[in-house]
This record gives sequence, structure tokens and C-alpha cells, in this order.
Amino acid sequence: MLNLYLAPRSRRAPVPEDAAVDAAIRFLQENGVIGEAASPDEYPPGRDVANLFPSDADDHLLPAELTFEAWHVHRARRATFLPELPQADGFPGATCTICGDEIDPAGLAEALGRLDVFPVHRFTYTCPSCRTELELRDIDFGQPTALARFWFLIEGAAFSRLTPALLERLGKVLGTPLQVVPERPVEHVEDWVPARRRRP
Ligand SMILES: [Zn+2]
Repeated sequence: MLNLYLAPRSRRAPVPEDAAVDAAIRFLQENGVIGEAASPDEYPPGRDVANLFPSDADDHLLPAELTFEAWHVHRARRATFLPELPQADGFPGATCTICGDEIDPAGLAEALGRLDVFPVHRFTYTCPSCRTELELRDIDFGQPTALARFWFLIEGAAFSRLTPALLERLGKVLGTPLQVVPERPVEHVEDWVPARRRRP
């Protein structure tokens, strides 16, 4: 089980209008992906939630397992780095794109933690190897990341990939193409057996 963010693909994407968000929610409900709101901005899985996951997910999981725990709608007052980082081992494989050396995860987590206080354009992290003052875009996090003021969070998703056609149509309804940002690199999810099975 894994948390997935669905965030605009473009860092410059405006926050969708309320009407567009409502239309996206209706689209998800009509396709049976989510049900009626459990509380404001929180939705349970719908009747046909398995449609959210690509057909090859069937090779790894039973149809009844293809679900999630909750679908959340998030709006933030300022650009937020995703995935939001709760733990110190956040990005174990992160590298500096200037010198190619690995970045100490604890130091990076500390620098990212300051984003709670400072806006993202103030982010800096000095690479211990080449001494370059890195911006977020100079770091290879080893997984997809996003800067967003609006996103969906799929809590407790059974599978890390979503049906591409559904994701594309959802982006069209919302008015901004979406990308999937997993909370952590899939290979680090200990109990995610299908991921380990697929590795060479
Ligand atoms: Zn470096």
C-alpha cells in the first residue's frame, strides 16, 4: 500500500477553478472510481475502483485488492514540494546533477524540512562533494516529484501505476495534464510484493 499524489505535470499550472474540480470529481464518480463524499474533500472508493489501475495489475493482485483507502482533494496557499516529506530517509537514491555524487539523505531531508517555513524558490542545498548551491531542479530525486498548489492524494493505493487513458481524461476534465508522484520510490515499499517480483 502506497500513497500517490496526482499533481499537475507543469510547475506553472494555475490552481484549477472550483467548477473544474467539481467536474473532475463528477467524472470520477460517474466512472465508479470514487463514491459519495465521506467528508469535505474526501471520497471513498467507488463500485468500479479497479478501473483506476491498468489491466496488468491483475497479474499481481486479485480484483478485490485493486482499491485505495481514501481520495483527497488538496489546495495549498503556496507551491508545495511533492511528495511531502515526513521521514529522514525520504530520498535514499538522490544525486547531484552537477557532479553526479549521491546526496546524504539526512542533509537533504533537513533542507526540504525548511520548506515548511520558506517558499520553494528559497530552497538551497550545498552539495558536499562539489560545493554547488543546488536548487530543487539540480537534484535528481530518483523518483517523480512535483511543485504544486493543487493535487489529489490517493491514500493507501494498492498499485503504483494508474490506467493511462483514465488519467489523461481526468487531466482534460480538470484542464491540466496530471502526473503520478509516489510518496516514496516503489522499490522502497517493503510490503509491496508485486514490485519486488517484477524486479529483474
Ligand atoms: Zn555535486
